[in-house]
Amino acid sequence: MQNQKPEMNNANRLEKANASPHAQVGPGRSAAHAAIIDGKAIASALCKDLKTRVDHFKARHGYAPGLAVILVGEDPASAIYVRRKGEQCRVVGMKTMEYRLHVETREETVLELIQRLNGDSAVHGILVQLPLPPHIGTRTVLAAIAPSKDVDGFHVTNAGWLAIGEPTLAPCTPWGCIRLLHTLNIPLRGERALVIGRSVIVGRPMAQLLLIEDCTVTIAHRYSENLADLCREADILVVAVGIPNLIRGDWIKPGAVVIDVGINRLQSADGTNGHRIVGDVAFDEAARVASAITPVPGGVGPMTIACLLENTLRAAEIAAS
Ligand code: NAP
Repeated sequence: MQNQKPEMNNANRLEKANASPHAQVGPGRSAAHAAIIDGKAIASALCKDLKTRVDHFKARHGYAPGLAVILVGEDPASAIYVRRKGEQCRVVGMKTMEYRLHVETREETVLELIQRLNGDSAVHGILVQLPLPPHIGTRTVLAAIAPSKDVDGFHVTNAGWLAIGEPTLAPCTPWGCIRLLHTLNIPLRGERALVIGRSVIVGRPMAQLLLIEDCTVTIAHRYSENLADLCREADILVVAVGIPNLIRGDWIKPGAVVIDVGINRLQSADGTNGHRIVGDVAFDEAARVASAITPVPGGVGPMTIACLLENTLRAAEIAAS
């Protein structure tokens, strides 16, 4: 009986993923082809729900949840992320305040701003867009944010709550991955999960969240040996490395669920200035083996902002109570 468990679970996963309205059935997709997890649609549904919750919050308390976003420097990708966060905040009816600081701003100035925002009752969430310029200590800055306003979930206090299995404000990207799995009703209890990557932002909190879901969790990193073999044992595979197409199709256990967090910008093959975004998983190969897989773009990415907004509402609700 014991030996039958993985096959039973994989069949179950495929059935559940296929049954979800958020699993895209593409043209020509056969039963042996993975369901494509539509993160954009799931994030959009989450934002719709958030808007209703924000409306209720405003009706009850007479003010909107407020998110302050600090951007130091002019990194183009960071500027795009900050703009998108502000736009989405407004879409769900939250208040947003942007602080764009010059790249040479001193660390003390950033810390003073955070202290001011910590004491501002109209601000419920504070987000410092990373990466920071090298002269500013990331750890120091993140530690200065009041844990109750740490909507990115990077403060050691919130990381500690997560580590003891009682998450308060969990980091948005891994929390978004869990929300995807929940939305698709993917069974997690007792499943073997492999998280590749151990960053504070994604890998570590992802592993903690999967542990809370009762998965048997392995974490791999650059020194892990036999990565392909580790992958072949995983029912749930989460990859957050930053190396395009690192994970090949024949590394994936048939029927596994694959969550690709990686965002890699590849130069177009035609030699023009164009580029395309790919994940850490060789998508076409993996989709032939997995039961469900997130595309890049359009998988995990949209969930990150939705979960940031959810954390901001949660912080406002906690502050109000
Ligand atoms: P990171 O801080 O650079 O961490 C990368 C991790 O990958 C490290 O733990 C590293 O191991 C591990 N690693 C590197 N090479 C490896 C290899 N050959 N085999 C196995 N593990 C290896 O990156 P991150 O911030 O976690 O982000 C990871 C990826 O996710 C990036 O592409 C990033 O752009 C993307 N991302 C996406 C979102 C989203 O919203 N979709 C959000 C955040 C990040 P060591 O610890 O041993 O160095």
